[in-house]
Amino acid sequence: MRTVIVDSQLLSNLQRCACRTNLYFNQDLRSPEPALALQRGILIHQFLGHMYGLRKESRNSRDILSCAGDAFNFIKPLMPTFDLPDADLNNVVKCLEQYVEMYKFEPIEVLFVESPFSLVLYESVEEDLRIVYVGVIDMIAKIMGQEEKVYDHKSQSRRSDFLLLDDQFEGYATAAGKNMLTVNVIGLQTSVDPREKNKRIPLSYTPFLLERWKNHVIYWVKQYMVYTLNNEWPENHQGCNKFNLCEFYEFCISASDAGRAWKLTTDFTKGEKWDPTKVLENRS
Ligand code: SF4
Repeated sequence: MRTVIVDSQLLSNLQRCACRTNLYFNQDLRSPEPALALQRGILIHQFLGHMYGLRKESRNSRDILSCAGDAFNFIKPLMPTFDLPDADLNNVVKCLEQYVEMYKFEPIEVLFVESPFSLVLYESVEEDLRIVYVGVIDMIAKIMGQEEKVYDHKSQSRRSDFLLLDDQFEGYATAAGKNMLTVNVIGLQTSVDPREKNKRIPLSYTPFLLERWKNHVIYWVKQYMVYTLNNEWPENHQGCNKFNLCEFYEFCISASDAGRAWKLTTDFTKGEKWDPTKVLENRS
């Protein structure tokens, strides 16, 4: 049976712009500009994954401060490998210290850390199609007296809201079979009080909403197959300035086909082949 594997990155790009999806995911074109927010996010995930992983390994008997000390030692030699200015790296460390200070006595029982999943969302013999959704859940944990929840760590340089209708969160809740997800916000603002910028935002899903999300993914994957079959990748001009200016903007506003082709060779490099199943490797 034909199997299409999708993750939240591909899904959100399909909805943003098919042209961008083709350039990034099929042609593997990457801008040489470092994506600073992404780099900061990876560093923070490495720290928190290590810290909460140690807590879990100790069957939740090790205190957070001691786990954090080891996690700082873990990220220190990794920091020079990040494409981030020193001021940025120092700020990330400072904000992580504030986070640890804030949650050092939290009675958290960590059950899973960086847990990969692979979920069959759709299977049809008639259509000869199986759709598999893959990802990694940051953490599943229980805080004393509360139910078990899915946690997703998000770093933020400025305040913005988190919505229920978010493919990543809906996917995690579906994969974990939970109706509650907590967004664990780590604020990176220098002038905001840690108690204001570090937040836990609860999101609560109904089975109806999660069923609708599944159908939404199936729709977009089928649409992706149509684009692929026809090799037609339409531009979506509403997607150009979403989040940040799209890195392919200069390509899209080129005055001719020759100009577009030139832009692709001069402004981009061939990156690593996108492979959503990579997240399933080397994890237990
Ligand atoms: S600039 Fe706009 S139209 Fe062009 S690839 Fe990016 S999102 Fe799509």
